[in-house]
Amino acid sequence: MLRLTRCAYLRSQLFKAVRNFSTSEGSIKDGWEAVIGIEVHAQLNTKTKLFSDSSTSYNEHVNTHVSAIDAAFPGVQPRLNIHAVEQAVKAALSLQGQIQKRSTFERKHYYYPDLPQGYQITQQREPISRGGFIQLTELDGAKIPAKIGIHQIQIEQDTGKSIHDMRPGESLLDLNRAGIGLIEIVSKPDIRSSYEAGLYVKKLQQLLQWVDVSKANLEEGSMRCDVNVSVRKQGDSQFGTRCELKNLNRIRILSAAIDAEVTRQIELLENGIPVHVETRRYDELRNTTYKLRDKESAPDYRFMPEPDLPPLLLSEDFIDRIANSLPELPDVSLDRIMKQYNLSLFNANLLLHEYKCLDYFERVCEGRDPNTVTKWMLNELSGALAAKDKTFKDNPISSKRFGGLLDLLEKGTTTVNKGKLLLKLMLDDPSEPLDIVRKNGWLTMSDSAQLESICKDIVEKNADKVN
Ligand code: ADP
Ligand code: MG
Repeated sequence: MLRLTRCAYLRSQLFKAVRNFSTSEGSIKDGWEAVIGIEVHAQLNTKTKLFSDSSTSYNEHVNTHVSAIDAAFPGVQPRLNIHAVEQAVKAALSLQGQIQKRSTFERKHYYYPDLPQGYQITQQREPISRGGFIQLTELDGAKIPAKIGIHQIQIEQDTGKSIHDMRPGESLLDLNRAGIGLIEIVSKPDIRSSYEAGLYVKKLQQLLQWVDVSKANLEEGSMRCDVNVSVRKQGDSQFGTRCELKNLNRIRILSAAIDAEVTRQIELLENGIPVHVETRRYDELRNTTYKLRDKESAPDYRFMPEPDLPPLLLSEDFIDRIANSLPELPDVSLDRIMKQYNLSLFNANLLLHEYKCLDYFERVCEGRDPNTVTKWMLNELSGALAAKDKTFKDNPISSKRFGGLLDLLEKGTTTVNKGKLLLKLMLDDPSEPLDIVRKNGWLTMSDSAQLESICKDIVEKNADKVN
């Protein structure tokens, strides 16, 4: 397998992301406009489930983390996990939402085997947060800067998992996921292209990971997107009829699905056929969407107040405490570090890309030249880690030791070439950089008398060449 250096790998990922976006820039037929709103479900990082003490640990043996509450035994009652509430508030604050001091829980009824209660406990009419937005700028890759409004954020339970493809003719159920806390982040219909939709999801994902609210991993299912799409003639003030696309778990697929759906709706309307409100799925091979079912409307779900949970009342102090615990948000960090360390957008994005990477960079930068730190961290360290199939998360070199290596180079204690070898050794050898240099005889000489005698010796031994 071709081994890329870590930096080259990150670069290739970023370029790939850019390329994926640009293949589906949502080039829409002249005279038409797409209108898109996205509902994102993100699993909250909590040790236990939303209403029970079962563990939320991922990839465990099936049905080993299921309590009587998760399996909806008769007579059980939910008890709200305060950590889930904290996480939801954190997410909402980082999206500039207005936290609601009073929110309530409701039952949303539908029948599906992986939903043992027969209803989902969710917030609909009185959610935990209203409003907020995500700003898409040129720094995010937006061609036209856009502010995507958030309609609301609600807390709700996850379902279990149905597995249809393991035993022919049978469906299997795993309830480990049933009852894990989610937030649903409902955007306003402010998105105008598949490209913008991709940027929105990517930025939301980065933000949730940054504030440590969710793993927000699309492939593992800790973040899931449903996309609502409609089209209208350019200049129309009314929205068209929308269809909902379910289960889009990769950004590339999400963008492609939107393009296919936009094309389908325009074709229908141009032929005088109305669009029906439907829930649809994307077929990647055929690059088309197909109907899954008619879309349920609110009355179908028979929403009713959850009688076992009182209204959730949040105090000013509680909200302030969480607001004060928030780290600097990525938009602010990006702007700051580009100025403070004279970084290119590309390098600044690389540092923001991986968890704790920026933190490390800033610690190493203390008292050192940021250009040297950038070069050694993003080229040499990333490359040395990648050569060992490691990522920055597995970096065994503390910021102090890494800084120590840079100091040896700065003082001329060893050479740049030996410094690169030293870095590789430091991945396996926990000793101080100077000790490794000494052990290997890599100290440079600075005694001029000693150097002169070595040079003389060489000249004398090579008289023919000197002549
Ligand atoms: P439901 O939950 O029943 O699907 P919501 O009112 O919660 O309905 O809306 C879901 C999503 O649909 C929101 O993200 C919203 O922005 C989006 N949406 C609403 N109207 C339209 C429209 N005409 N075209 C595209 N998206 C829309
Ligand atoms: Mg919805």
